[in-house]
Amino acid sequence: MTRTARAAVYDAPGTPFVIREYPLRDVRPGEALVRISMSTICRSDIHSWEGRRPNPCPGILGHEIIGVIEELGAEITHDMRGDPLAMGDRITWTEYFHHGGSFYGDVHDMPQKAPGIRKYGHDLAETDPHFLGGFADYCYVVPGTGILKLPDTLSDEEATPLNCGVATMVSVTEASDIRMGDAVVVQGLGLLGLYGCALAKTRGARTVIGLDSVPDRLAAAKRFGADHTFDVAAMDEDALVEAVRALCPPDGADVAIEVCGVEQVIPSGLRMLRVGGRYTLGGLVSPGADVTIDANVLVKKWITLKGIHNYHPRHLIQALDFVVANRDRFPFGEIVDSTFKLDEVNDAFQRAAERSVLRAAVVP
Ligand SMILES: [Zn+2]
Repeated sequence: MTRTARAAVYDAPGTPFVIREYPLRDVRPGEALVRISMSTICRSDIHSWEGRRPNPCPGILGHEIIGVIEELGAEITHDMRGDPLAMGDRITWTEYFHHGGSFYGDVHDMPQKAPGIRKYGHDLAETDPHFLGGFADYCYVVPGTGILKLPDTLSDEEATPLNCGVATMVSVTEASDIRMGDAVVVQGLGLLGLYGCALAKTRGARTVIGLDSVPDRLAAAKRFGADHTFDVAAMDEDALVEAVRALCPPDGADVAIEVCGVEQVIPSGLRMLRVGGRYTLGGLVSPGADVTIDANVLVKKWITLKGIHNYHPRHLIQALDFVVANRDRFPFGEIVDSTFKLDEVNDAFQRAAERSVLRAAVVP
């Protein structure tokens, strides 16, 4: 008899999710079948669902996933770190998979930008193996994925955002080259910004300044390592720049990080930096983020400007180690602040879209 399992499928952008059953097949070599413990709704899932980002339909969304290995194919014996893997292990894995060598993957060590890369939560529900997204009972972890075993000490709430939000911010803060004693400005205090504050502090920043307009986020940032926060809606740009610079003597911040997805903040971010400052853009993931800047400022102030998208598999290992090592210092478990069943996924997306929850989790 064919085994089946449930998935929350959307047929077209903006339409509700419906629960459908698809067949489960035996794993092939290099694959694992994982019973999903928890998936969280990332902002990019909402962009896909609302049609602002192309995604194949009918599709199963969800790439921040953890689960327990139910079947393990031949050839998978160890995780990325070399720990042995067995049925019953709880795992996280890279949000993407790719096949074989490439100029970017091998020559430039940027596997996250290799051509032909595919992401979990970005695939058709109708084709084999059906289950490649988080909002379902099961997910196949396929060849080309970096798997990491999760320690029992970590709760599901702490572990689920590791493979998107945390690993991405490890990548962004590494690119920002945060040094001991730096002053760091974080523009945007959603999930990425909160992890960004905590990572900046852990990397040795003397001062972390968080900027947002949502009161709950400003309050949360203080618990995640921000020394100061400013409500950007309550100040004009000149006053904000002046207030931030005053906290970063003698001449402004060493590092600014954009994770708010609003390109209009770039000119003010540049003004907050000192000569030789470093600016990393991580939130502008949709096309059309046009903005006017005076490029002369980049030259005269010796600014290093970088864009960062996705992460290297090593960043997932670092993300896990960072959360395990600092879980008593920062309340990572608070980030996932609401839980829904699989058949409540429409409510979950509604709540996440209107930002009345920070991170909604779906537990099948
Ligand atoms: Zn994500």
